[in-house]
Amino acid sequence: MTEDTWGQVREELLKRVGRNNYLTWIEPLHFTDLSEGVARFTVPTSFHGEWVARNFGDHIRREMLGSGAEVTRVEFSVARQGSRPAAPAARPAPAPAPAPQRGAEDDLAGSPLDYRFTFDTFVVGKPNQLAHAAARRVAEGGPVSFNPLFLYGGVGLGKTHLMHAIAHEISARNPEKRVLYLSAEQFMYRFVQALRDKQIMSFKELFRSVDVLMVDDVQFIAGKDSTQEEFFHTFNALVDQNRQIVISADRAPGEIKGLEDRIASRLQCGLIVDLHPTDYELRLGILQTKAEFYRGQYAGLKIAPGVLEFLAHRITTNVRVLEGALTRLFAFASLVGREITLDLAQDCLADILRASDRKVTIEEIQRKVAEHYNIRLSDMIGPKRLRAVARPRQVAMYLAKQLTPRSLPEIGRRFGGRDHTTIMHGVRKIEELMATDSQLSDDLQMLRRLLEG
Ligand code: ADP
Ligand code: MG
Repeated sequence: MTEDTWGQVREELLKRVGRNNYLTWIEPLHFTDLSEGVARFTVPTSFHGEWVARNFGDHIRREMLGSGAEVTRVEFSVARQGSRPAAPAARPAPAPAPAPQRGAEDDLAGSPLDYRFTFDTFVVGKPNQLAHAAARRVAEGGPVSFNPLFLYGGVGLGKTHLMHAIAHEISARNPEKRVLYLSAEQFMYRFVQALRDKQIMSFKELFRSVDVLMVDDVQFIAGKDSTQEEFFHTFNALVDQNRQIVISADRAPGEIKGLEDRIASRLQCGLIVDLHPTDYELRLGILQTKAEFYRGQYAGLKIAPGVLEFLAHRITTNVRVLEGALTRLFAFASLVGREITLDLAQDCLADILRASDRKVTIEEIQRKVAEHYNIRLSDMIGPKRLRAVARPRQVAMYLAKQLTPRSLPEIGRRFGGRDHTTIMHGVRKIEELMATDSQLSDDLQMLRRLLEG
């Protein structure tokens, strides 16, 4: 993919999103590079990036695919001036973790750290105070620390935020320390690549040379045998040398299916803390912090009393959704030049509010879908692979993903303990079929109405 291709993609986008959107959102994007399926762009402000990711990310990805570029993900980051991000932050953004001054630094590059994810921007409440305290302690790096620190909790509750905060803090305190943060997926990718390139020795050396190793979403490598094996060895080697390890997962070690017992039990040696679902006070706190930040960005934009309380009360799924709602609200209000009132919020966020409104349960979805297709409820969770059963089951998976805030692993559990990849496959299958099968899309519409009504 070259600048030229991006030029063509932009023309397609212009047709697709319209001139106004194009000028406001697409034109300011600056294409930087494409590697490992990730297309990267710089954006003028973090808000710009969030907005484009949310509203045009899929368009961009699709158009790039259409032009022959293999893109699985698009990423936006704020354009840097020198080494500091040109952060539009209301409060001064902390400097990003300075890259340690060593030789083959590129080798040590982990997944990128979000400069906004610091302890400063993390709002502490009852549900996350323990996790926060533990993270702080590890970041301060006292003599006795918890090794490993294992953070777990549902989607969007702040695991990644806390891990980045630890990395920022350690690097700020001890610039000479080698901190490596990466997703478990990256870990696996690197491992497989090293195997392929017969570089396994340098892979091992690299991972054993860090002072702090942080692996995010470790449930990802459960069941992936050779990667797990390698992870286990790395892990042991580092713990033996007293190096700090921080790990996150979407559930407790013992509950991760396919995770080897010896790994699970090794994890138990450290400190395991969970992030609980948010409560009203925490949600309100987060909204207030964010709103403060946006008020800095949109001078003159007013927000009526009660709006944040309303949102904290109504949007209970996770912090990511909550943030998304506020982002959209501010953008919308600034575009139409109006004060943010309850009315405007209800208008602008109708879909999100509706989604959090209906408390559709997975059980309900399974029951209704089974009834509709005339199959037994037990077949929904049973092992039968017959099309006549498997298809309705996929329909139910799809609806569960659409209508409930449950994560793929959670949905998998309600479907007889199926793996999250099975659920993802089912959801994709239905999405595909819907495009061509009008009977199916009618069925779905009807079921959806039934469930929401
Ligand atoms: P997870 O990794 O647990 O899925 P993230 O750390 O990615 O969740 O958090 C999702 C979003 O919510 C991020 O933008 C993060 O900054 C924000 N967030 C989560 N918890 C908090 C918090 N306590 N204070 C401020 N922002 C939060
Ligand atoms: Mg995360």
